[in-house]
Amino acid sequence: MKFDLAYCLSLDDKLSIYDVRDLNFDETVAFDSAKEHFQCPNDACRSAFEASNELGTFNAKNVNYVRTPHFKNLPTTQHVAGCPYVSLKASASGVETADGETDDGREEHFPSELLLTRREYVRKPVAPAGAADVLRDDPVRVAADSGKESASRESAPDKTSVFAHPVECFVSNFADKELLKRMPLKVGEHSAPYSSFFKKIEYLTDNKGLIYWGRIKKIEDFHSASFRIDFEDKVWFKKPEDSKKKPYPVSVYLNKKLIDNYRKRKAFLEEIKHAVDSDKALFCFFYGVTPELKQVPGKKNPEKPFEVFNANIENLDHFIIREAPGLE
Ligand SMILES: [Zn+2]
Repeated sequence: MKFDLAYCLSLDDKLSIYDVRDLNFDETVAFDSAKEHFQCPNDACRSAFEASNELGTFNAKNVNYVRTPHFKNLPTTQHVAGCPYVSLKASASGVETADGETDDGREEHFPSELLLTRREYVRKPVAPAGAADVLRDDPVRVAADSGKESASRESAPDKTSVFAHPVECFVSNFADKELLKRMPLKVGEHSAPYSSFFKKIEYLTDNKGLIYWGRIKKIEDFHSASFRIDFEDKVWFKKPEDSKKKPYPVSVYLNKKLIDNYRKRKAFLEEIKHAVDSDKALFCFFYGVTPELKQVPGKKNPEKPFEVFNANIENLDHFIIREAPGLE
């Protein structure tokens, strides 16, 4: 069992590693995980030790990661007996490193829902009227999470507002098709197992409103003002006037205004510029728009338009370009 969450001292709240990443890159908040203090999410465990009994992070600040981000025990981290996270404790016999390595594997905590409204993080808890005393000892989120740290936590609804989290579940567990078929995901009004909620871009005409993904063929960088992502695979589609299916290219556009106003602009530009320069296989994941067949003016001959499935990305929070070695 991996840490699903860690308690963040300054926010007095439990965060996933994806929340931490989101906060690190958000230019509208002052947050640097390297300066924050994270502790065991088990309340009993946390209260039993000094505040200096901390957890570490892995890939919390790396914009372009391949290995699954997570919280980890430090060699000094202690847990009370019976803490569900105690099995993660590096053994005293000096095999900490080996334990740490196995801990770097796939993402085990599948959010059952991607919330489309961003989670708000409040550094000093603002108590709702009359709830000030309750809040200190029993943070609101814990109550909402169905309370006690126990096995019930495993089956409790677990939601996230960070797109990278379900994407990491899909990517790191890609080889385990049965698992992806079993795990449910809800986004907006739509529910489906991970295996079908993530739709290969070539099959996008099957269903609207899914998370589409595909290997990137080319990224066109229009002087870092806007970008066009071309996918490797084509969509086979039969127009009413045609007798059979024909292949059409697929692209998505990112416009300048969207990028300039993005709260994680710097991290986003780092992500996409790294991608433009990369010679590795890269994949794009997005949610919120479904590319449609459109006519666009031909480059050489504007009189002769060509047809392409495309869409304008509307929210960069639901857009990711990354390496995903298992998907190749
Ligand atoms: Zn613990």
